[in-house]
Amino acid sequence: MSKAPLPIKIDPRRSADQGLSYEGSLPLKRLDRLVSYLVDAEGDIDVSLTFGIDEEKIRYLSGIAEVSVRMLCQRCLEPVAMTLRAELNLGIVKNDEAAEILPKRYDPLIVVDNALDVNQAIEDELILTLPLIPTHEDCEVKTEFMDPNAKPEDDSKENPFGILAQLKGYKH
Ligand SMILES: [Zn+2]
Repeated sequence: MSKAPLPIKIDPRRSADQGLSYEGSLPLKRLDRLVSYLVDAEGDIDVSLTFGIDEEKIRYLSGIAEVSVRMLCQRCLEPVAMTLRAELNLGIVKNDEAAEILPKRYDPLIVVDNALDVNQAIEDELILTLPLIPTHEDCEVKTEFMDPNAKPEDDSKENPFGILAQLKGYKH
């Protein structure tokens, strides 16, 4: 099967009818919402998409989007490298009603007109894979290099009380 490079817009129904596949990379910095969760916007997302029609005549989009990113570890506040991997298994539907009767093996992909915003679809799927609380598996490996006097967590906890005390003092 020949693979076309990744376009910005895809007609998902026509692509499904023709059984088209796309493969390519997408610069991370184009996905602002995803980048807002990350330490930086360096890197490319490897994307592989396949459109088709299943035995129940449902048009689907399946594929994989994978990217190496860095998030902020919520324990030690140092960057932690991780790989985000989204496996797309989407049924292409016109509206919410059609989405509700979609078999459970698919997540609905609602496409109103005939143009699927590929970047946005991939961004949505990758955001779903983000860990709620990113952490190193073992922070101590990182933290032993840190200045033991630098404790940003403690500082941020003390600050509100410090400000409160100042305000109270100011009133008198
Ligand atoms: Zn850590």
